[in-house]
Amino acid sequence: MRKALFIANWKMNKKIAEARKFCEEFLPLLDNVTDVETVICPPFTCLHVLSAALQGSPVKLGAQDLFWEDKGAYTGEISASMLLDAACEFVIVGHSERRQIVGENDTVINRKLKAALDASLLPVLCIGETLQERENSMAMEVVKEQLHRDLRDIELSEGQLLIAYEPVWAIGTGVNASSDDVRKMIAFVRECLAKMFSQSLADSVRILYGGSVNEENIKMFLSKEEIDGALVGGASLQAESFAKIVRYKEI
Ligand code: PEP
Repeated sequence: MRKALFIANWKMNKKIAEARKFCEEFLPLLDNVTDVETVICPPFTCLHVLSAALQGSPVKLGAQDLFWEDKGAYTGEISASMLLDAACEFVIVGHSERRQIVGENDTVINRKLKAALDASLLPVLCIGETLQERENSMAMEVVKEQLHRDLRDIELSEGQLLIAYEPVWAIGTGVNASSDDVRKMIAFVRECLAKMFSQSLADSVRILYGGSVNEENIKMFLSKEEIDGALVGGASLQAESFAKIVRYKEI
């Protein structure tokens, strides 16, 4: 049984005082929530304050990116061991905003995944097609290619990888994918993983959906057994709305 997982991706939002305030509001709203796992990925500048604020709570800490080298002359970069030092357990890798805006390609993403895995961080690999690719009926081919390139020469054990299927056209647009399309794509991703690794490995990987998830649509996604949780951007910035998403069973 894969435990439902909700990951807040704050992107480039919140200063230290705002991050602290979020935790003061959010943590009491999680009282008596069981059977789900919750992670917050703030900007690097808020990791330290969040690690203190989340201590003793069930909420875990993640980062939004990492660099593949461990230390040295790499101005502006942050390594896996630095993230561990800042109490991170998770790290997002290959978010479409980094692929599209910063120009990260699959070779870079593959290196980052290897660095995260070597450090025993749990990578959340983001994959997904653009609108044009979907309209040209290429969505599955694109996702399959991303999986093959991003996971090239990587050996995995159960529980070491998380995947977020995030169609690019659904991120931050208010236009979510249909739960049926997501269900089909996630089943396809699992089939690909079974061929690339093994059925038991594929069955163990939690595969989330991301793209304009909110408190209104979360239950629809989580009602599909293929969908193991959500990577949430905009709706994770308000404590109340993210708490409602995490408490989707009560909606
Ligand atoms: C994301 O940041 O990965 C995301 C899915 O954003 P949003 O929920 O705002 O679409």
